[in-house]
Amino acid sequence: MADVHESLEPIYSQVLQRNAGETEFHQAVREVLDSIGRVVVKNPSYASNAVIERICEPERQIIFRVPWVDDRGDVQINRGFRVGFNSALGPYKGGLRFHPSVNLGIIKFLGFEQIFKNALTGLPIGGGKGGADFDPKGRSEMEIMRFCQSYMTELSRHIGEYTDVPAGDIGVGQREIGFMFGQYKRMTNRYESGVLTGKGLTWGGSRVRKEATGYGAAFFVERMLGTKSNNFDGKKVVVSGSGNVAIYTIEKITQMGGRVIACSDSDGYVVEDGGIDCELLKEIKEVKRGRLSDYAKERKATATYYASGSIWNTPCDVAMPSATQNELNGKDALALINNGVIAVGEGANMPCTPEAVKAFLEAGVLFAPGKAANAGGVATSALEMQQNASRDSWTFEETEQRLAAIMQKIHDRCARTAEEYGLEGNYVAGANIAGFIRVAEAIRALGVI
Ligand code: NAP
Repeated sequence: MADVHESLEPIYSQVLQRNAGETEFHQAVREVLDSIGRVVVKNPSYASNAVIERICEPERQIIFRVPWVDDRGDVQINRGFRVGFNSALGPYKGGLRFHPSVNLGIIKFLGFEQIFKNALTGLPIGGGKGGADFDPKGRSEMEIMRFCQSYMTELSRHIGEYTDVPAGDIGVGQREIGFMFGQYKRMTNRYESGVLTGKGLTWGGSRVRKEATGYGAAFFVERMLGTKSNNFDGKKVVVSGSGNVAIYTIEKITQMGGRVIACSDSDGYVVEDGGIDCELLKEIKEVKRGRLSDYAKERKATATYYASGSIWNTPCDVAMPSATQNELNGKDALALINNGVIAVGEGANMPCTPEAVKAFLEAGVLFAPGKAANAGGVATSALEMQQNASRDSWTFEETEQRLAAIMQKIHDRCARTAEEYGLEGNYVAGANIAGFIRVAEAIRALGVI
């Protein structure tokens, strides 16, 4: 990737110094600073009044203890986080992640990315993120409920429909949002639907929210392929992960005529040349809360399960990394390129390392960065907020159409911006620059606050 422009070097040094050890956060900041050098040269006013420094410093960072009692009666302690990164465009908006790897640096990288992603949607939402180092795996439903209630007991002081509106992320789906919404309602004595998104359909949720991130990523990549007069029809696709984003990416790509031949979880991956059976995958992951190895057992005649090795060694036309950050490295990128990949779409947040992104861009592979390609989830969350505010409920078709239109706009905004700055076809630069300009304009307009 390009080097940080010299005028931005002191800002990056300060970020490193002030946020020591937070490597994922450094990586996310670095990628944006790499992209905006040209913007600052063309329009120095974006760098005046410390606009960039303000974007790099969260408005607030909340860390709290989450005590709860497990099924054996033992007290467990976790650490909870919520980072309100930037609210120049609207209330903080971004998901909650429950995973043992969660720490402040990971939440800050996700919150930072969220600022630009949310700006790209064109909707009035700021950027934030939260979560806890809680591991839901192997926990009973009652343990998960007690954890969610304790987490919300503290979080409830900091959120609100005009302040901060959390949603789901890794380890947090509709069930967890339900437990947290229930606790919020109990504590505040208010049925404040707009305080959380990703709710169930019968209690204030939006149609297509569950599907939105995966469907949105598929819409984005289809449009990107379209710039080369291509599409998903007949393409072999590899999708990593088998959670919310991966499942609905697989579903939409299959509807578009693509053949998804592999997916994964943190224990291994499955390759099935005839195409993954999405209905069976949903049944195992969403209903039975099982593992991908259970899927492989059900499909032993057609699927092969690998407990080790890299899913990215599977030859494919399109790769959609949709599990977690830094899951696809430079070596994986070379394997994909050597096997003839033509497009990569990030369903997860920052799943490709900087070396991998560089390799794809240099090889001329169409590359859709997560902050653009996976923005469909947060965009549909904003549609959920709109429906809550107007006490309205749209049909599946209407909501999906709106999502498709938003993804097209995001795609075109990234492509056009990259071209304007002499970087045609570079969606990383296009997304970072377009998102940055929208936020920087709002920050300047609101004064030094
Ligand atoms: P999820 O439903 O919890 O699924 C996560 C999937 O990724 C699971 O299959 C999980 O496997 C796998 N995974 C997690 N950590 C892993 C690791 N260290 N190595 C290998 N596999 C791993 O979460 P999700 O909502 O799909 O989120 C996936 C990604 O999309 C994340 O980067 C998230 O930030 C991003 N994203 C999500 C949304 C959304 O609306 N949900 C929106 C935008 C972006 P195990 O079950 O084995 O852990």
